[in-house]
Amino acid sequence: MIAEVITDVSAHPVDRPFDYLVPQRMETVIERGARVKVPFGNRKVLGFVTGFKEQSDIPVNKLRPIDELLDLEPVLTGEMLDLADWMKRETLCFEIDALQVMLPSALRAKYEKVIHVLEPDRIGSEAAGIIGSRNAVALKEFPERLLPSLKRLSQEGAISIETGIRQRTSIKKERVLHIAGPENLADVREGIKKSAHRQAALIDWMLAHAGETIPTRDVMELTGTTRATVKALLEKGAAAETEVEVYRKPEVGLLDEAGGDPVMLTDEQADAVSRISRAADEGREETFLLHGITGSGKTEVYMQVIRRVLEQGKEAIVLVPEISLTPQITSRFKKRFGPLVAVMHSGLSAGEKYDEWRKVQRGEVKVVVGARSAVFAPFRNLGAVILDEEHESSYKQEDSPRYHARDVAIRRAEMHGCPVILGSATPSLESFARAHKGVYTLLTLSERAKQQPLPEVRIVDMREELKNGNRSMFSVDLAEAIRDRLGKGEQTVLFLNRRGYSSFVLCRDCGTAVQCPNCDISLTYHRASERLQCHYCGHEEPVPLICPECGSEHIRFFGTGTQKVQEELHRLFPEARVLRMDVDTTRQKGAHEKLLRQFGDGEADILLGTQMIAKGLDFPNITLVGVLSADTMLRLSDFRAAEKTFQLLTQVSGRAGRHEKEGQVYIQTYAPEHYAVELSKEQAFEPFYAIEMANRKRFSYPPFYYITLIRFSHEDLMTVADTAEKAVAWLAGKLGGDTVIIGPTASEVARVNNRYRYQCLIKYKKEPKLAGVLTDLVKIYRSSWMKEGLLMSIDMNPSSI
Ligand code: ADP
Ligand code: ZN
Ligand code: ZN
Repeated sequence: MIAEVITDVSAHPVDRPFDYLVPQRMETVIERGARVKVPFGNRKVLGFVTGFKEQSDIPVNKLRPIDELLDLEPVLTGEMLDLADWMKRETLCFEIDALQVMLPSALRAKYEKVIHVLEPDRIGSEAAGIIGSRNAVALKEFPERLLPSLKRLSQEGAISIETGIRQRTSIKKERVLHIAGPENLADVREGIKKSAHRQAALIDWMLAHAGETIPTRDVMELTGTTRATVKALLEKGAAAETEVEVYRKPEVGLLDEAGGDPVMLTDEQADAVSRISRAADEGREETFLLHGITGSGKTEVYMQVIRRVLEQGKEAIVLVPEISLTPQITSRFKKRFGPLVAVMHSGLSAGEKYDEWRKVQRGEVKVVVGARSAVFAPFRNLGAVILDEEHESSYKQEDSPRYHARDVAIRRAEMHGCPVILGSATPSLESFARAHKGVYTLLTLSERAKQQPLPEVRIVDMREELKNGNRSMFSVDLAEAIRDRLGKGEQTVLFLNRRGYSSFVLCRDCGTAVQCPNCDISLTYHRASERLQCHYCGHEEPVPLICPECGSEHIRFFGTGTQKVQEELHRLFPEARVLRMDVDTTRQKGAHEKLLRQFGDGEADILLGTQMIAKGLDFPNITLVGVLSADTMLRLSDFRAAEKTFQLLTQVSGRAGRHEKEGQVYIQTYAPEHYAVELSKEQAFEPFYAIEMANRKRFSYPPFYYITLIRFSHEDLMTVADTAEKAVAWLAGKLGGDTVIIGPTASEVARVNNRYRYQCLIKYKKEPKLAGVLTDLVKIYRSSWMKEGLLMSIDMNPSSI
C-alpha cells in the first residue's frame, strides 16, 4: 500500500503529495487525515495522509516507508481535506498551510534535535537515567556538561543525533489518589511509628475520605504534606496513585451577564429566527445578512437559532472578532447553553486551545464561540454558522493562507447544508450589495430590543474649539458632560482611535522622527519597556537623548494617545476613577476580562480605551460616550477609510444607553461635514451605503470591482523592481482587456526588515482567466524567482491596500 502525504515543507517549489510506502504494521490502522512522520531529504518531517494508492510513478525500490503514525484517530476529517484543496485553489497558498491552519498549534510539528539510542549498553549512567525507556529524546533535555560525551557517542555510532519532530505535550495529565477503604487505612495507621507525625496526620485525613479519588495535588495542598509523605503512605498501601487526563480550564463566564433564559422575541426577531430556522430544518445552504442596529437583539436571534439547531442534534459555530467581545459574549452563550459550549480565541494557551478543540472533535460540545480560526471547528454535523460583526477586517487572515472566515463559513455551509448568518449593525459594502442582489437574504432589525431610543449624538467641531482658545483634547461640551456624569454617579466611556496617532520621537529642530534602521518607518514608543520599537520588524532601541540626525537636544516625545488622555483626564477631574484599556494594559492573560468586570462592577467612573472597547460592551450605567478623535482614520489612504470610520463611530455610539437610562454621545472631529461622520449620527446605514457605493463605482473599487494585490520583496532594490516589472508585463499579456493593472510601485512602507517591497494591484470585474493565470504566475515564482531570494505573495481580496 502507498500513501500520499503532504509534507510540512512550506517553501518547497513542488506543492503536491509525495508517495510513501505504508509499512505492514500500519496497514490496518492508517487513515486519511492522520499525521505521520516521514523522511524528507535527510530530515524527518511531519506530514498529513491525504490519500492511498496501489501504484506509484516512482519505482517501489525508490519509495521510502513512513516512519511513524502519529494519530490513530485522524485529526482531519474528509471534509477538512476537501476544504484545504478548496482553500489552496481560492487563495493560492501551499496545501500544507491550508491543512495546518485548521488545527490547534499543539498538533503542528515542532522540530528539534533528538537523540536516537542505537547501542544502549554504551551510554553512561547519567545519560541513561535521562533517557529511561524511551528510544528518542530531545537533545535539550540533557545538561550541557553531558554534550561532549554525547558528541563522542554519536561519532562512535552508539547514538544518532538528528533533527526530528517531536509532538508537543498536548494532553494534560494529573495524578490522582485512590484512597483505600477504612479497614485498610486503620491497618496502615497501626503500623506507623510514633515519630512519623506527618504520616499519621495524613492517614487521619484519609480516614475521613476513605474510598474517594482526589487529585494528589489537592490532597497535598489541603493537608500541607509533602510528596515524600504521600509516597511513604503509597508504599504502605494507604492509597494507589494513577494518572488521569484532565482539561485545562480557560477562564470564562466571569462576567455577570444576563442571558440565561430565552426572552420573548420582538416581531422582527421572531421573523428572523423563523426564516433562518426554516433553512436549518430543510437542511439547505442559505446565507442571511442580519442587519440590526446596535442593541437590536442580534445575539438573542443567534441563540434562539442555535437552540433549534441543537434540538435537531446538530452543531453550531459562532464567530466573533478577535479582541473585542469574547468575555461578554462567551459568558452569554455559556449561561444559555452551559457545558455544551467551547471557546476558542487567542487569549488561550496552546494547551487550552487544544483541549477546546478536542472537546469538539470528540463531540463533547455542540457550540463553539471563537475568533476567526474557529470556523474550522471539526464538527461533523453543522446546523448553523454565525459571524457576528461580519464587517470586521479581522476575519481576513493576513498571512498565508489568506482566507476570509466568511468565505470558509459559506463553503462549509454548502458542504453541510445549513444556513450562515452574517450579523452587523454596519454590514460590509460587499455583503450589503450581495443582499441587494439577492445572493444573501436580508433580514432587518430596525428597533432596539428593549425599545430604548438610540442615544442622542452630537458632533463637536474641534476647529471651533481651537478658535475659541481651547487647546485641550476635550471640548468644552464633552468636559461638561463628563462632569455631569461624575456628579450623578453614572459611567462614561471614552474612545480614542489609536491609528494615526503620534507615539514617536520627533526632533523639534530638524523635524525628523526616529526611524527603524531596517525599515522605512518611524519607531513607536512603548511605555511598558520605555523603549522604541518597530512594528514591522520588531527592532528595539532605547529612546535617544539627542537627535540622531542633527544632534539637537530638543527632541520631543509624544506618548501613546491613551496615556496622554489619561494624564489630561487626571488634571481635569482629579477625583475621577479612570480605567484604561489598550494594548499596553491588556497584555496579561485575563486582563481584558478583569478590566471589564471592574468597570461593570462600578469600580471606575470612566473607561478609556482604543478599538477594543468599541464592541460588545454592554453595561446599564453607561450614559455617556465620547469619541475623542473621529477622523484620524479618514486620513489613511485606504479605500475603505470612510467605511471603517462609519462602522467604528456607529459601534462606539451603540455603547451608550442600552438599558433603562438614556444615553448621550459626543463625537469630536475636525471633519464634521464628512458623510461618514455626519451619517453615523443617526446610524443612517442606507444613506451612507448609497454615497459610498457611488464613490466605489467612480474609482473602480469593490464591490464593483474585485481587487487582487501582489507583493514582492527582496534584499536588493533593483532585483525586486525588475521582477515586479517582469511579472506585471507577463500578467498584462495574459489577462483580458477589462482588467486593469496598477503598478508596479514601491509599497507604502518601501523597506521592511532590510527587504525592499514592491506591489501591484489588479482590478477586474469578471476575469475567468485570472485564477489560471495567477496559478501559472505562482509556478514561475516557485521555480525561479523564489530561488533567487525573492518573496511574492498574492492576496485575492485584501482587506486594505
Ligand atoms: P445586539 O447584538 O444587536 O447589539 P443584543 O442581542 O446584545 O443586541 O441585545 C441588546 C439587549 O437587549 C441585551 O441586553 C439583550 O438581553 C436584550 N434583548 C434582546 N432581545 C430582547 C427581547 N426580545 N426582549 C427584551 N430584551 C431583549
Ligand atoms: Zn534633529
Ligand atoms: Zn523595522
